[in-house]
Amino acid sequence: MNNSLSNNGSFRTPLLAGNWKMHKTVKESLSLVEQLKKDCREVKDREILVCPPFPSIVAIKESLQGSNIKLGAQNLFWEMSGAFTGEVSGPMLKEAGCDYCIIGHSERRQYFGETDQSVQKKMKAAFQFGLIPIVCVGETLNEREGKVHFKVVEKQIQEGAKDLNKEEASQLVIAYEPVWAIGTGKTATPEHAQGMHAFIRKNLTSLYGKEIAEQIRILYGGSIKPDNIDSLMANPDIDGGLVGGASLKSEDFSRIVKYVA
Ligand code: PEP
Repeated sequence: MNNSLSNNGSFRTPLLAGNWKMHKTVKESLSLVEQLKKDCREVKDREILVCPPFPSIVAIKESLQGSNIKLGAQNLFWEMSGAFTGEVSGPMLKEAGCDYCIIGHSERRQYFGETDQSVQKKMKAAFQFGLIPIVCVGETLNEREGKVHFKVVEKQIQEGAKDLNKEEASQLVIAYEPVWAIGTGKTATPEHAQGMHAFIRKNLTSLYGKEIAEQIRILYGGSIKPDNIDSLMANPDIDGGLVGGASLKSEDFSRIVKYVA
């Protein structure tokens, strides 16, 4: 899939990922994926991913058999097993059927004390156990108003996404999610998002070289909706979306998946 030309002219396969956060019981999750499977049946040239809460993962995996929708988790702990009450490990997620894992979402940084150091350890653990990490970065409103957003994101990338081998790095996914745009209805303009994505790719180039950095997919996240996805995806460094609220309705998420750039 990775060598076809996508709509924005890049050779990276677009990835449209739904982050369900702490929404949907198992029953509700199954009903949403049943509808999504129907609504996205024809989609071929892009990857579709859903990241439900942990209790739904096994049931959803079964429901997704044979479909074009992949499964991811919203978090993991870096140890393989042990006395870590309340945590979930990479091997558990892999065996349950996950291909991806979101790491360092801003809500985890804000409410659960995650740092660039814990993000980096979780990212390494994801690769170690066969999961592709989606590492989230992004500035707060204060940081943006203080004009330190590039500096903040640079540090998140340089410290949170470092020390991968080449094979791992080429599979890495970054999600740029300005915190002020998450769940607020305020979306970054396509120009702002493209500027930050290009800056992130420059930082990835300094970590891993140009050839690898060109293969890394950088998703945008922050109030993506059916009516703004097309203009976002038209930009050369925007390789997909991490979608919160709008991924909870099949009608909206499937329209996002079927963006026209
Ligand atoms: C998210 O949770 O990653 C997100 C981008 O949320 P929303 O789309 O609701 O802003």
